[in-house]
Amino acid sequence: MSRLLRLLAPRYFVTAVLELTPVRLRTWGIEALMLDLDNTLVAWGKIDPPDEVLAWLEDLRQSGIPVCLVSNTLSRRLRAATVVLDLPAAPGRSKPSADKLRRALRILGTSAERTAMVGDQLFTDVLAGNRLGVPTVLTGPLSPYEPLRVRFVRAIERFVLRALARRGVVPIRPQV
Ligand SMILES: [Mg+2]
Repeated sequence: MSRLLRLLAPRYFVTAVLELTPVRLRTWGIEALMLDLDNTLVAWGKIDPPDEVLAWLEDLRQSGIPVCLVSNTLSRRLRAATVVLDLPAAPGRSKPSADKLRRALRILGTSAERTAMVGDQLFTDVLAGNRLGVPTVLTGPLSPYEPLRVRFVRAIERFVLRALARRGVVPIRPQV
């Protein structure tokens, strides 16, 4: 299997971040999260997350699971999101560079093995996480509304996931 294909393989898959309950994260040995913003926590171009996402973040907080935003969005919008979500955001070069994730680890103060990168896109979130060697979680998109360029990328993502599956590389899904 090519090195690039291996770097695009998520370790876990959930249909929504809400499935990442504190109990499940502990089962997987994960103590902290680095979170993508767009279509992971909020709909594209929005800042206010759904109430369930806010409740989930509060649940993590009360369970002592620290969280840091790792987003490629414009700095002004990201600053607004940090206020609404009450979360820190890592500075640095955009994903798929691992730069922001490396800085996020420093903010979180947790180890790479126990800090997962969670996001909805293979070519930014999963690739950046695998480059750094942290556990990666691919999540289904929060909302079906996506810019045209993202819909184009989705077709390539499906192709990559099928190629991985043919080689027996299938992400772990939560047991119901
Ligand atoms: Mg995203």
